[in-house]
Formats: sequence, C-alpha cells, structure tokens
Amino acid sequence: MDFSLTDEQRMIADTARKVGEKFGLDYWRQQDKKKEFPSEFWLEVCAAGIGGITLPEEFGGSGLGMLEMAIAIEELSKCGGGSTVGQLFMVNPIFGGVAIGKYGSPEMQRELLPPLITGELNCCMALTEPDAGTNTLEIATFAAKDGDGWTLNGKKHWITGTASAQKMLVIARTTKSENVKRRTDGITMFLIDVERKGLSHGKIEKLGTNTLDSSTIFFDDVRIEPEELIGTLDKGFHELLDVLNTERIVTTAGLVGCAELAIKLAVDYANDRKVFGDRPISAYQTIQFPLAQAYAEISCAQLMNYKAATLCDTGESYGAQSNLAKLIASQACDKATMQAMQTMGGMGYASEYHVERLWRDQRLFRFAPVSEEMILNYTAQHDLGMPRSY
Ligand SMILES: Cc1cc2nc3c(=O)[nH]c(=O)nc-3n(C[C@H](O)[C@H](O)[C@H](O)COP(=O)(O)OP(=O)(O)OC[C@H]3O[C@@H](n4cnc5c(N)ncnc54)[C@H](O)[C@@H]3O)c2cc1C
Repeated sequence: MDFSLTDEQRMIADTARKVGEKFGLDYWRQQDKKKEFPSEFWLEVCAAGIGGITLPEEFGGSGLGMLEMAIAIEELSKCGGGSTVGQLFMVNPIFGGVAIGKYGSPEMQRELLPPLITGELNCCMALTEPDAGTNTLEIATFAAKDGDGWTLNGKKHWITGTASAQKMLVIARTTKSENVKRRTDGITMFLIDVERKGLSHGKIEKLGTNTLDSSTIFFDDVRIEPEELIGTLDKGFHELLDVLNTERIVTTAGLVGCAELAIKLAVDYANDRKVFGDRPISAYQTIQFPLAQAYAEISCAQLMNYKAATLCDTGESYGAQSNLAKLIASQACDKATMQAMQTMGGMGYASEYHVERLWRDQRLFRFAPVSEEMILNYTAQHDLGMPRSY
C-alpha cells in the first residue's frame, strides 16, 4: 500500500490548481447569480488536458485513470467551484466519456471523443423519471422498434446540463418489464441529439447548483437512428452501472474539495473575528470541534475514494467502495459547509462570503446521484449479508 502521489499525479494536481485559481470564488459567485453554465472554466479545464484525462490518447485524451481524475477535481473544486465541479465532470467525462469510450462504436468514438475532450461538445444523461428515481428499474420511457431504428416516448426529469448539452445519453426500456425474465433486462442506452424533433425540455426552479440547469424532458415520437444505440440492446442496465459507479467517484472528489474549501474559509474567518475581547472566535472549542470533526470525516472519505478509483483503474470491483466514499463525503461536506456558515454568524448567510453557495450546491449529494438510504440498504444487504429491507 503506497499512499504517496507519483510525480505525474502531483503535476496534474498543480495544473488543476492553477486552472482553478484563474477563476476562483468570485467567478463562481457571479456564475451562480447569473445562473450560467461555466463555459470559460470548462474550456480552460479541457485546454489544460484535464477534461479528457481518462480518455484514449488517440482521440486527444491523456489515457490516465479515475484516480488522476479525482485528484484533479479535488484541486479544481477547492479553488471556488465546490461540489459543482464534480457535477461538471459527471456530465462530460462520465456521462459522455465513459459511455462513449467504453460502449460507443468506433465511428461514434472517432466523431464524438475529440470534441468532448476539447470541451466543444457537452453531454447530459437522462435516467430519472417522475415515477422512477431511487427505483431506477421502474423507468417507463420506451423506445419502440421502428424500421431500422426506434421511436422514443416518455418523460424524464431533473436532467443536469440539458440546456448546454448537444448530446443526451438516454436510458429507455426497449422491452416492457412484464416481458423480461429479470427486471434488469430490457433496458438500453442511446446517445441522441438534444436538438431533435419531438424532444422538448424546460428548466426546474431549485435551491442551488444554479450554474447547471436541471430540466424536465419530454420525448414525443422522437426518432432514434440505428447508429445511436450505445452498448447492447436490452442489456444496457449493467453497462449503465459503469457510468453510475464512476459518477460516484467524481461526486466524492467534488465533495472533498468543497469541504476543504468551506473549512478553510471558516478557519480564516474565525482566526480573524473577535467578538468578546481580544481572542478570536477560533479559540473556542465549540467553533473548533465541528470543523475538526468534518475535516476528519472528509479525510477518510477521500482515502476511500482513492481506493475506489484505484480499484476501478486496475479493473477490480469498486462499487462498494465508491458507494461508501460517497456516503461519508456527502455527510461530511454537509457538516463542513453548514458549520462554516455557523462559524461566520450573519456573514455566513451573505453570498459575498461564499459558504452559503457551497452549502446550497452540495446539499444535493445527500440524496443524488444515489441517496444515502439506498447506499445503506446496499451495504446492509450486499456487504453485511442482511435481508433486503424493501
Ligand atoms: C439537482 C439534481 C440533479 C440531478 N441530475 C440528474 C441527472 O443528470 N440525470 C438523472 O437521470 N437524474 C438526475 N437527478 C435525479 C436524482 O438522481 C434523483 O433525484 C435521485 O435518484 C432520487 O430519486 P427521487 O428524487 O425520485 O427520490 P425518491 O426515489 O422518491 O426517494 C425519496 C426518498 O425516499 C428514500 N427511499 C426510497 N426508497 C427507499 C428505501 N427502499 N429505503 C430507504 N429509503 C428509501 C430515498 O432515499 C429518498 O430519500 C438529479 C436530481 C437533482 C435534484
């Protein structure tokens, strides 16, 4: 077990930090206020070679692993973007990159990986439906065979980054659940254009993550061409898990960076702020302990995430580790950001001090992309051998 970073990994962290510092806290505050996709940031991340960090060199990527991606995300998010940076990596390198890189046809890879790596192409992933969130297998969006392709009908919601995406990874049933032996069968992934006849979308008003829209999508007789099938017809569910498990690693990396940033902002403020007499408020244990506790927890989550990423990169099973890392990271980041606000008193409530945005954005990850209840269900059943509770 070697915990030290290689020279290359340290270089990646440095590069990411430099890109992150070019933007910083005020850039993200403005983007949040304007509710605008952080295009300049993403293009710069891609120009530094980080957007395509795990993708093959022949298409312009760096051919590295999820560990390097996690290290880069931590640094980038620590500089101001917080957990939203993890989400940016979800939409492009994961929903686009992992899906196309692992399951796309050679033509699809040749056409789409280069612009994905340079940041010219943005993606989104449409899985969740009004009646299928935690219970993914209940999805009802249906792609009916139609000549050599399919016709898609249904509704998705909470789809991140739809308004700025050109391509959408759609998860649909291609065989109705009543006609399959196992409920995981009959599900297929397609990669389609967002701009397409019959596809419409509208933004959902929400608490945070303002730089990435969340949209409701309607598919009304949307044509899918044969070459837009991605992976295996009717067997897409297991392929989708590769996308979703790597999604947990980038989520956790964003949360680690966000928690570290919130703790740093709180400590700086507390070291400076004097309320009674000459001692700064940071001298009080009631201020110190919750921040120290959050720091302890996020450090453990970071280690578990590195383990998940390493297992993923060496081709071993990593689902359990990526789940546990995400569970602890989301709880620790929630504590860190909330305690950062508490530490700043009234100023923690002001956008100028940034922690309220960090708290709003990261709150999402207590229940998405997988909820903490479902991680605990999985852990109790699969890791501990207890009966399924639902
Ligand atoms: C801002 C945002 C961005 C998102 N981005 C995307 C995206 O890009 N693409 C996409 O496809 N989806 C996206 N989602 C959807 C997200 O993945 C779902 O919200 C999430 O999976 C939870 O589903 P749900 O909201 O339907 O909650 P529900 O499934 O209704 O669950 C509600 C609550 O009940 C609990 N619960 C349910 N079943 C059990 C059980 N058996 N045991 C214990 N507790 C249980 C859950 O843990 C949760 O706390 C996004 C959501 C948000 C809010």
